[in-house]
Amino acid sequence: MNSESTTTQISATTKAVINLSACRHNLLLAKKSSPDSNVIAVIKANAYGHGMLEIANTLNEADAFAVARVAEAIALRQAGITKAIVLLEGFSSEAELKLASEYQLECVIHHESQLQLLEQTKGNAIALWLKVDTGMHRLGFNPDDVKNISQRLEQIDTVNHPVKYMTHLANADDKHDKKTLNQVNTFYKSIEDITVEETSIANSAGILGWPQTHASWNRPGIMLYGVSPFINSVAADLNLKPVMTLSSSLISIKQLKKGEAIGYGGSYVCEKDMTIGVVAIGYGDGYPRHAKTGTPVLVNNKRCALVGRVSMDMICVDLGEQKNVQVNDPVTLWGEGLAIEEIAECADTIAYELLCGVTRRVEFIYSD
Ligand SMILES: *Cc1c(COP(=O)(O)O)cnc(C)c1O
Repeated sequence: MNSESTTTQISATTKAVINLSACRHNLLLAKKSSPDSNVIAVIKANAYGHGMLEIANTLNEADAFAVARVAEAIALRQAGITKAIVLLEGFSSEAELKLASEYQLECVIHHESQLQLLEQTKGNAIALWLKVDTGMHRLGFNPDDVKNISQRLEQIDTVNHPVKYMTHLANADDKHDKKTLNQVNTFYKSIEDITVEETSIANSAGILGWPQTHASWNRPGIMLYGVSPFINSVAADLNLKPVMTLSSSLISIKQLKKGEAIGYGGSYVCEKDMTIGVVAIGYGDGYPRHAKTGTPVLVNNKRCALVGRVSMDMICVDLGEQKNVQVNDPVTLWGEGLAIEEIAECADTIAYELLCGVTRRVEFIYSD
């Protein structure tokens, strides 16, 4: 047997199982929560780390897709995706504008420089979303300038009319923050003197928490992957189903004595005699290095606590009183049975970052 066929028989211990039916369930929840709106499924950043093409191919019920960059959109077209694709950052050069038109991408226009490119570039027709900055202060035109910009767009014959209008919410993850309704008011006020047919405001938090933000198109992202968009809440509270389950297994078990230190820097010192498990996952796989001692980990579906520093390839866990635990026993880091929101909290980050950060060393397995 040659070495190549030997390696292909080894199934990875460290894997991310992607539950596609859970993803479709979450999309249907987005639709049910705002039944009069069309859905633009946001699949930027490799579908929040889940695999852009696999997610696009399972979300047949989406009305459109959104990505951030031209290359992401072209990859979708080259894979045969024919639905509308919204380019959330739009184009930033004549070359990108030409590609956007060639691949029939709907471009968000948010800056004067893009308007000038449109005015100067001869080419084929392009569909646009005019983005209004209602308080995020990242991308978008000043609300006071929107009327003037829309008149300039009227004059450009490569622009498909009518243009659509959008804005993005900054604080919708906090259901008590008044800024969200201020943003909605600012948005509608900025377009009140313009003939507008289609609009979009809501991200996941808007869809699930703020009916006032529902418009002709909604833009769910994080909820599609089964993560709560709200602070102090987990997916199960909202009937969302986690899509990614990150798992590995034990590769060593050892008995340590009170006073012995674990891992780099000896940052954790055993408070008593302890049974410690070593798990084959680390920051080289995307497990967050900043996860604190006490971060929950499931060993044989029972909660244990991470102890000591996360290494590149391994973490250590306190196996506590678990009986009959053995090398190769299964370990879950997040997903089904262990809320990723909880892990994010323990690592001083957000679930979005954890999902996007799973590395290529991890084997992705798609299940339905
Ligand atoms: C990423 C993004 C979304 C999706 O946001 P979620 O919080 O993941 O639902 C929607 N709109 C824009 C403009 C985005 O950049």
